Amino acid sequence: MRTFYAGFEPGQPPVRVSLGVGLLRAVGAELTTLGLARALVLTTPEQAAQGRLLQADLGPLAHGLFSGATMHTPVEVTEAALKAAQGADCLVAMGGGSAIGLAKAIALRTDLPQIVLPTTYAGSEATPVLGQTVDGVKETLRSPKIQPEIILYDPELAVSLPIGLSVTSGLNAMAHAIEALYARDRNPLSDQLALGGLRAFREGLPQIVATPSSLPAREATLFGAWLCGTVLAQVGMALHHKLCHALGGAFNLPHAEMHAVLLPHSAAYNAEAAGAELRPAAELFGGTIGGGLYDFAAALGAPLALRDLGLAERDLERAADLAVRNPYWNPRPVEREAVLGLLRNAWEGRRPE
Ligand code: NAD
Repeated sequence: MRTFYAGFEPGQPPVRVSLGVGLLRAVGAELTTLGLARALVLTTPEQAAQGRLLQADLGPLAHGLFSGATMHTPVEVTEAALKAAQGADCLVAMGGGSAIGLAKAIALRTDLPQIVLPTTYAGSEATPVLGQTVDGVKETLRSPKIQPEIILYDPELAVSLPIGLSVTSGLNAMAHAIEALYARDRNPLSDQLALGGLRAFREGLPQIVATPSSLPAREATLFGAWLCGTVLAQVGMALHHKLCHALGGAFNLPHAEMHAVLLPHSAAYNAEAAGAELRPAAELFGGTIGGGLYDFAAALGAPLALRDLGLAERDLERAADLAVRNPYWNPRPVEREAVLGLLRNAWEGRRPE
């Protein structure tokens, strides 16, 4: 078992990170070491069976299981989970951004410590940020209380992530790294985190497509998820994330798939202004950043066109309007006609030049 610990971000609460096969079975010992004895386990409905196994493994250390976590953390779900959390002394979230988002939402309101076992590559575990929906409207909150204190990456837990989701979730993580490379507040450490994350996915994702049960590949990609999540917490995101937030909110497109389709196009858009910053990433993917990322995604069998995710052609104009409203800082000016062109290419699934 390979394990490492990392403290990061001076001024932020310390985070302990471990990565290794078998950590799932070590959660009980972890709780005991911390003096915790009543853990509420959190999962989505789809991972309730995994949650029940963990609950059984924890025995008397488990306070209960709440398996109602869902995408975008609706406050109604958080309120139901808060009732289940009464009497608990900590939260153990197992899953992707949805289960971890619920732990963060409860921790924000109760300050209960969070131990999270990520099973996708979205990277939410590494950020002090919570996106929650109130009456269908998404709001983003940032607080030290939101940051999970302990992250346990167990590659065995990621093995059941279906190939398609593994690929799109990996591309979702890579999007954090690509945007970090040209972030206004980037620094030498964030560059290294971003490039390390991209390298991990470039190596690991093709191996997962070939052999989904490969533990070394799952370990490499979870390591990549941590690097990409960490860099997401440290620097500002730009046009790509703005596009995903706007389209995800207005058209309810699936989160990871939308990141996967848009990434080559938003990277190509910004390469005009940030070619030097993106060059190391372009070299990793064989030449031009947009074309290289597109070819990488295509070889992995990722979705390539927004039209295949359910976006109607007539919605492209509205999508462009939303994307240019209150834009995030971006290395290239965010111009409506150019963004409409980007969206049309992504809708058709055309390889960016
Ligand atoms: P998810 O957590 O919704 O998971 C997608 C589906 O896959 C769920 O049904 C889940 O149960 C299932 N699943 C996950 N891991 C599995 C596994 N190993 N085996 C079998 N099934 C598995 O998806 P996600 O992409 O990880 O997270 C998306 C959510 O996270 C969004 O709400 C997004 O806004 C949020 N997010 C937040 C941050 C942040 O920093 N706040 C960062 C990234 C994502």
